[in-house]
Parts: sequence; structure tokens; C-alpha cells
Amino acid sequence: MKIKKFSKKPLDLKERVGAKPIVCYPNNSLENKNLDILQEARKHMEKIDEIIIPPRDAKTFNVKKGNFFRIESIEGPQVGDLNLFQANNLDEKFYSGKTRALYGTHISVGDKMFSSFPYLRSLATITWDTLDWYDYDEDGGSVHDVIGTRCDPYTSKLISGYDYHYCCHSNLTRALVKEKNMNLGDAEKIVHDVLNVFMLTGFTNGTKQYFMKASPVRPGDYLEFFAETDLLGVLSACPGGDCGSEHSSDTAKCFPLKVSIWKVDERFLKEINFSEVSSYNKNHGLTK
Ligand SMILES: [Zn+2]
Repeated sequence: MKIKKFSKKPLDLKERVGAKPIVCYPNNSLENKNLDILQEARKHMEKIDEIIIPPRDAKTFNVKKGNFFRIESIEGPQVGDLNLFQANNLDEKFYSGKTRALYGTHISVGDKMFSSFPYLRSLATITWDTLDWYDYDEDGGSVHDVIGTRCDPYTSKLISGYDYHYCCHSNLTRALVKEKNMNLGDAEKIVHDVLNVFMLTGFTNGTKQYFMKASPVRPGDYLEFFAETDLLGVLSACPGGDCGSEHSSDTAKCFPLKVSIWKVDERFLKEINFSEVSSYNKNHGLTK
């Protein structure tokens, strides 16, 4: 935190401060050319599967390339922590940091969920968001962030000193162990920073600390995605519930979440350009 200042201001201070901000990664070239096709296709969707995620727990689900999936609030306000993998290669997983660098702190319709290096392609595109009306509030808060990491037992222990086993990190790990028959160490290593579905977050004005507020999500709200490759998803119903008070404990009231998988007839997707893994040659300057 940049509160304490030990160094003296330089004499040429005026020349060093006040430069105009430049967007680090202009994203005009990422404009989603598939969006109009997807918005039309989604009118013809048919539900093919449904998974209920119990509170303070996580489950895995599979989505085939070209299908849609929804994460839906049921029963009460609840935040979800989402991990996404390429189903046949778990080394390719969602990269929240780069997605944030490209789109900003919170994502919504038309934004793509990019995968890790050396792949860096869109795993999924967001096609509908019933909370997109929320925009950014007066505290700079909004929903569906890619700034938080996931609640975890290590940070909880660091701060509060006790062991808690139902943080999203542990829930996601447990789901991979139980449902994908992985060993604990392997599963924990591939759990990654999440998309915080429905969570209302931002940075405080003064100290720029990560904050949360009660989520505006209500039963019936959903966030919908189009799978650009075969996906393995893992979703945790966060122990923070609506994240209006605290997480990493059994204190908050928690509700289940629903994941549904939808398909559309191929004829509606004929014009879609599916994403491809990066064509960078991976030389990194080692040979000419
Ligand atoms: Zn959580």
C-alpha cells in the first residue's frame, strides 16, 4: 500500500508526473465479430443438461465446443467462483490477469475469457448477462470481476490464524479430486484465479484495496457463455454467499447455484470463427 513515504520528492517532480494515461492493450482488434451470430443463435437454444452446485462446495461440468452454458442464481443471492480448462489439455486454463489487462476489472457481454500461455485464445465468450444494467456504481464497484483471485485457506490462515476447509480454492480442488479422479497435489496445482461470477467488487478510492459489497444478483439472474473449444468447467458456490459480510467462514448465508448446458443446431453457427491457439512461434529470441 502506498501510504508511507520515505523518499524525498525530486527537484524535477513537475517533469515526472502528470503524463496522460495510455491504454496498455488497446482492444479494438479483439472486437467480437461472432457476437451478432451468437445473439441470434441463442434464441434457438435447447437445454441438454443441468448441474446443481451445493453451497460451500464445487462441481465440474463439461461443455462441448459450439454449446452454450449458463451460471444461474437459484434460491438466493450467491456468488460463484469459476475455473475453466480446455477439456483435453488441463494445462490450458483461464487467465484472469490477461483477461483483465485486455478488458478491465469486470467483464460482460462480448468479452472473451482468454487462456494461459502459450495458448492465449478465447476459451469462451460471454453472450448474455442479466446484471449488465448494474454498470459501475459510485464506489467504482461492478459485478463479474477478474481482479479477485479466489478465497483460499492459506490467506485465511495468514489473516485469521485458523484452518477453514470450504474456501473456493479448496472447493475447486476437491471437485477436481472427486469428479476427475485426480490426486490432491495435482488438482490443487491447476486451480487458478477465477472469474468471480455475480460478485460485486472494486478498489477503494484512497488505498485502492480490493473491496466487496452484497451482490445485486437474485434468483433467475444468469451469466451465459459460448464455448469456443471443448471445456471443463469447475464452479464453487463461495462460502461468502452474496459476499456482503465475510467469506472464508461458515457465517454467511449461502445458496446453491445452477449450471445449465445448452445446444443449438449447427446451421446457426455456420459463420462463427472459432478461436485458435496463439500462432507465436515460441522462439523467445533464442535463435535467429
Ligand atoms: Zn470464494
